Amino acid sequence: MRLRNIQGSRDVIAQSPLVVHEPRQYRDEWKEAFGNDHPIRIEVGMGKGKFIYQLARLNPQINYIGIEKYSSVLLRALQKMEDEPLPNLLFIRMDAEEISEVFGREEVDRIYLNFSDPWPKDRYAKRRLPSREFLKRYDSILKKDGVLEFKTDNRELFDFALLELPFAGWEIVSVTYDLHHDEEMMAGNIMTEYEERFSAQGNPICKYIIKR
Ligand code: SAM
Repeated sequence: MRLRNIQGSRDVIAQSPLVVHEPRQYRDEWKEAFGNDHPIRIEVGMGKGKFIYQLARLNPQINYIGIEKYSSVLLRALQKMEDEPLPNLLFIRMDAEEISEVFGREEVDRIYLNFSDPWPKDRYAKRRLPSREFLKRYDSILKKDGVLEFKTDNRELFDFALLELPFAGWEIVSVTYDLHHDEEMMAGNIMTEYEERFSAQGNPICKYIIKR
């Protein structure tokens, strides 16, 4: 998702109290950003943020951080949330390649990837958020017993993501190729913007939950 460059989006983001502007300063100290030591869960590539906003509303005892690379997209999330900001939800505009500079070892309790960009050309495989390169980065910040959840309707990306697991030392906790018809894995499911769009078109949604 790359919205047209919206004029002034960087200025709006720079002034937003919902955005952490110098996230590296909080490495190993994220409890200070929230003012409590509740668990921290992150969504990498959150887009317009519907999923993480709903999670944060439902779970006030958990802190959430939405990570998005593009200002124009993050701006849309901020616009939606400014009427009812949540104390347990913050945002970072950054490339997730730098994620281990922003979170310390075992600082994150759970990681969500939703409808990550497929980067279909092989030469860009390293940019895919469930690639082995990214799994190694997640490994460095996720609690020992933490899990990562990934949803997509893109079967090629999902198959790729499954094949990457052993190379980075991860294993499957649960998996489905049709989430919306899997009663167990569907329990408590929160739809993302992309999930709403693609499931309405009849695309089955794949999901895995993985651990090390
Ligand atoms: N997760 C949302 C959903 O399911 O509706 C948005 C999906 S959209 C296809 C993928 C999002 O991931 C885009 O907003 C894109 O800018 C963001 N993204 C892709 N690569 C990223 C990276 N390396 N770091 C941070 N965000 C990234």
